[in-house]
Amino acid sequence: MPVIYRCGSCNHVLYEFLRVGQDSYGLPTPSELIAKLGSNCPHCGKKLKTPALESIKISPHRPRRTSPSEASRRRSGEGAV
Ligand SMILES: [Zn+2]
Repeated sequence: MPVIYRCGSCNHVLYEFLRVGQDSYGLPTPSELIAKLGSNCPHCGKKLKTPALESIKISPHRPRRTSPSEASRRRSGEGAV
């Protein structure tokens, strides 16, 4: 299932892990992602930190027959960083 890391402040998508084999690195941990992106959100500049358990959202994967307006909500796992 996809994993999406978002900025906890502006909701900017920091990283999307869509499937295994996407790249040779696999799914980065939040701290690896922060090390890769730098310690601030590239969009709003807020300092990134590892997510609290409460800020991690898991939602069921929906089938593909949703309208384009719903496409952005068709996410399976999200974690604000
Ligand atoms: Zn941000």
